[in-house]
Amino acid sequence: MISISETNFDPSFAAKLRKISGINIFKCIQCGTCSAVCPMGAHMDITARKFIHMCRLRLRQQVVLSNAPWICAACSECLVRCPNGVDIPKVMEAVRLLTQRKNINYVEPSQMPSETLAELPTIALIACFRKHTA
Ligand code: SF4
Ligand code: SF4
Repeated sequence: MISISETNFDPSFAAKLRKISGINIFKCIQCGTCSAVCPMGAHMDITARKFIHMCRLRLRQQVVLSNAPWICAACSECLVRCPNGVDIPKVMEAVRLLTQRKNINYVEPSQMPSETLAELPTIALIACFRKHTA
């Protein structure tokens, strides 16, 4: 269920996403193709289609608190299949940038178990920190 309130509504949210990503999310016709082809959809708390819909409704708080922008693998499968060429990965990236400008870390390096740090490839760690930390 989508609820709109004073706390989660940011009237300039859609414009900010457009400015950062260059993508017109209002071209979306809500066909749901993106959600159907997304390989990460099962792990997202909102689907790609719903993500775009919530961005259009300017529900900033719900979008930012969603795990979708952080789970998105930027594979562009949704973009390839979208009938209107909506570049969702770029919108996901814009949401991450807006969040990181608020200095929120989604991964805290100092909290990661040493065994995990030792096992993970360095390049994966660097990619993770670039994407998930402010
Ligand atoms: S595939 Fe494109 S038009 Fe269809 S819901 Fe997804 S973003 Fe919107
Ligand atoms: S780019 Fe992200 S949202 Fe689009 S299909 Fe890939 S994982 Fe899903």
